[in-house]
Amino acid sequence: TPLSGDRIRQTFLDFYAARGHQVLPSASLVPEDPTVLLTIAGMLPFKPIFLGQRPAEFPRATTSQKCIRTNDIENVGRTARHHTFFEMLGNFSFGDYFKEKAIAWAWELSTEVYGLPADRLVVSVFREDDEAFAIWRDQIGIPPHRIIRMGEADNFWNSGPTGPCGPCSEIYYDFHPERGDDSIDLEDDTRFIEFYNLVFMQYNQDLEGNLTPLQAQNIDTGMGLERMAQILQQKPNNYETDLIFPIIETAAKIAGIRYTKADEATKVSLKVIGDHIRAVVHMIADGITASNLGRGYVLRRLIRRVVRHGRLIGIEQAFTTDVAESAIALMEKVYPNLRSREPAIKAELQVEESRFRETLDRGEKLLADIMSGLPKGGEICGIDVFELYDTYGFPAELTQEIAEEQGLTVDMAGFESEMAKQRDRSRAAHETIDLTVQGTLDKLGGQLHETEFLGYTEVSSSARVT
Ligand code: ATP
Ligand code: MG
Ligand code: MG
Ligand code: MG
Repeated sequence: TPLSGDRIRQTFLDFYAARGHQVLPSASLVPEDPTVLLTIAGMLPFKPIFLGQRPAEFPRATTSQKCIRTNDIENVGRTARHHTFFEMLGNFSFGDYFKEKAIAWAWELSTEVYGLPADRLVVSVFREDDEAFAIWRDQIGIPPHRIIRMGEADNFWNSGPTGPCGPCSEIYYDFHPERGDDSIDLEDDTRFIEFYNLVFMQYNQDLEGNLTPLQAQNIDTGMGLERMAQILQQKPNNYETDLIFPIIETAAKIAGIRYTKADEATKVSLKVIGDHIRAVVHMIADGITASNLGRGYVLRRLIRRVVRHGRLIGIEQAFTTDVAESAIALMEKVYPNLRSREPAIKAELQVEESRFRETLDRGEKLLADIMSGLPKGGEICGIDVFELYDTYGFPAELTQEIAEEQGLTVDMAGFESEMAKQRDRSRAAHETIDLTVQGTLDKLGGQLHETEFLGYTEVSSSARVT
């Protein structure tokens, strides 16, 4: 039988503990660093050590870190591998071991402990990192054509315009080795999945962009727990692993449907619910409350999306606390604070869900107003349809359905073009996102500002109707 998600996590921590790493608990999703919105990577709690602002208590550490990446929100349910909430397993060296050991251990863990066949693995290195290339080729024995040199965007890490930085090396799993090695394209996610990223912090970058070697070289790594579960449990995506699927089944049961029999759109909705509810219970457990600002706004937006996708699959009644219960039950052994914070989690969900349902009701009234202003056989313009969708969570199909009942048509092309504009905005934010802490903050900040949700404070937007 394949390893459970919990075993995969424990196996990772045990492996590095046996190699002199201090096992530390996951830090909160609310970072200590006041300039960062949410914990986006396992390295974030150690950032002051890497920057030389705080001494390391241990030369080596290993963690399973709760992470949230809002830049992946549009990928949720659409790619097989992206979540908002996920766990990043990591091993860290603070001026202790470096490239050789990091690579050798990552390989040993992947192949001998997790048992991945060597000929299913492909690695990437930074274009100029001949040292890492040579270690993979000569010490590990990877055929050179399966060591792919990549550019700065994917394989160079820094933590801002100045400070420690360095090349990365990633390990990918190959789902389709039968396609041959002639043209290995690591961007092809029907074939490859990145699961382990090793960062070699070896330079200091100064204001002019010059790189000088660091005295104390550091290792920072990240392995996606859900991705390793997908690979080892041989599932078509992260969502069908034992880490998430029980939550999806709960939501499906409430909707009176079966995941396996569902069409693609319904599956996406179920995946969104499964993903977001995990994020939501952990965020509230870590003390975040819904608001229109910062991380509170992220929480509100996630809850709204859960409710909206619930409606899309036919759930009429309040249901988020029941799905949350399923998520708490699934994760409480590893994260006991979920159970101790259960009352707060459910209370927050109850309030937010009922408020949002009222917003949806107001959207229905707004739609009625729009329609009453139109002549018989008239058309609802695309901007109105988009606004109903964006502000009131009204799916365009619902607007269309109601309009048809009244003998009206809907400018779906206009709606689609508004949607495309929004996608462009979030893609621009997505493409430029990186792991640099300040960079992520800036871009998140920009993203949030752009999409700032006004539906709660400006609900009676009769001005917009006229
Ligand atoms: P991708 O290219 O697939 O978006 P990434 O390069 O952005 O991944 P890293 O920043 O290198 O990811 O993070 C380290 C590891 O964390 C990845 O190799 C992956 O296993 C995992 N990971 C990153 N982002 C996500 C996510 N949104 N959901 C689940 N796991 C993730
Ligand atoms: Mg990414
Ligand atoms: Mg990547
Ligand atoms: Mg990566």
